[in-house]
Amino acid sequence: MRPESSTRYTPYTLSSMDRIPQIAGLSERRRLAMKAVAHVLPFRSNRYVTDELIDWDNIPDDPIFQLTFPQPGMLEPEELARIMAMLREGASSRQIRPVANEIRRKLNPHPAGQLEHNVPRLDGVPLPGLQHKYRETVLFFPSRGQTCHAYCTYCFRWAQFVGMEDMKFAQRETETLHAYLRRHDEVSDVLLTGGDPMIMRAGHLRAYVEPLLQKGFEHIRHIRIGTKALAFWPRKFVSDPDSGTLLRLFEEVVASGRHLALMAHFTHPRELETPIVRQAIERIRSTGAVIRTQAPLIRHINDSATAWADMWKKQVALGCIPYYMFVERDTGPRDYFGVPLIEAHDIFRRAFRRVSGLARTVRGPSMSATPGKVVVLGTQEIHGERLFVLSFLRARKREWVGKPFFAKFDPRARWLDELQPAFRAKRFFFENDNPPRKKQVGWE
Ligand SMILES: *Cc1c(COP(=O)(O)O)cnc(C)c1O
Ligand code: SF4
Repeated sequence: MRPESSTRYTPYTLSSMDRIPQIAGLSERRRLAMKAVAHVLPFRSNRYVTDELIDWDNIPDDPIFQLTFPQPGMLEPEELARIMAMLREGASSRQIRPVANEIRRKLNPHPAGQLEHNVPRLDGVPLPGLQHKYRETVLFFPSRGQTCHAYCTYCFRWAQFVGMEDMKFAQRETETLHAYLRRHDEVSDVLLTGGDPMIMRAGHLRAYVEPLLQKGFEHIRHIRIGTKALAFWPRKFVSDPDSGTLLRLFEEVVASGRHLALMAHFTHPRELETPIVRQAIERIRSTGAVIRTQAPLIRHINDSATAWADMWKKQVALGCIPYYMFVERDTGPRDYFGVPLIEAHDIFRRAFRRVSGLARTVRGPSMSATPGKVVVLGTQEIHGERLFVLSFLRARKREWVGKPFFAKFDPRARWLDELQPAFRAKRFFFENDNPPRKKQVGWE
């Protein structure tokens, strides 16, 4: 018997968009706009997402459709019109590319010099596939994991997916990773991230992970893998040809006495509702790996307390541990997805109040900014001045962690660099010896 094609991983991209059966029902204009946007912001989907997650009776509002399909509002109207006009005249991808690249550059593809900051060196040579910002944690971007099951483009990595060579910062050498870690015994945590490392075949993943279980790496205690695959391709853990190898690798890590965590991106409660995702979670948990969940709060998709409370409850019921709610980054289609800090905090607080203590492991809303991860604790009025109360969850300097600080209240502020210090101070306390207050680096 021929296996159902929807059980095989067949990605949809811009060039195969017309083959998505459900697309035929959309208006000509919407389809053209979707293609125009996809020339700038990478599009990638698959039959699990289109057949089992998206409700096609609710287009364009359906949250998963909003998350995975290009939306006209993601580009400035003039830019959208410009590419649509080119498409109407039959322009080729090649002809559109320079225009698309010009638009991409305006979308702040690498917030805050992400390419320069935090890149460690080995014998003086920079290692571009690594980031080492906090003493005990190294982020590794395996080159084979620099795509994603869904190019939902709200993470700062979208630029890595579009093939603009100078924008990529991945590396092929697993040896470099291992050589670096062998010399740095202060590092206890390794995070494999992307893109999505789970897009790799299990054999490739093994090449990165298995050596870390050997002699010389006793200091590596925690291994994390960031992934959207649980939400968008759960068959990776259940029925893909390499799922057995993958689960055995997880078991091996756990058997070595290490903590293995899957940092799963779940953005909407619906992603937790199919029988296959539940089966995938069960299988992963049976290896001894822990699943922690995180996602950004984004307009059109999960900008409600109900969505978050529902997500956290479902996650706890399935044995997952809610970890972070992020603030949308200043990159890509941020004007489309972004939510002001005050609103983000309000949603967080209302959702937090509705869940049991078991779900209150979650922290947020958190900005991964250059000085560290800053959480919005709330607002307060002091001597007639309305203020934001903020705190570091993670910081370049350990002594900053957990120390509340204040910023002037600003109802429109969406990121740390848009905030002003309170009480007429010239700068925030952490800026005295750390001048750049600009944007963010890192994601988890
Ligand atoms: C968030 C983050 C980490 C991990 O921090 P935890 O508090 O351990 O989750 C590591 N490196 C960078 C750059 C990060 O942004
Ligand atoms: S890595 Fe996560 S945030 Fe980035 S495109 Fe993939 S699913 Fe979206």
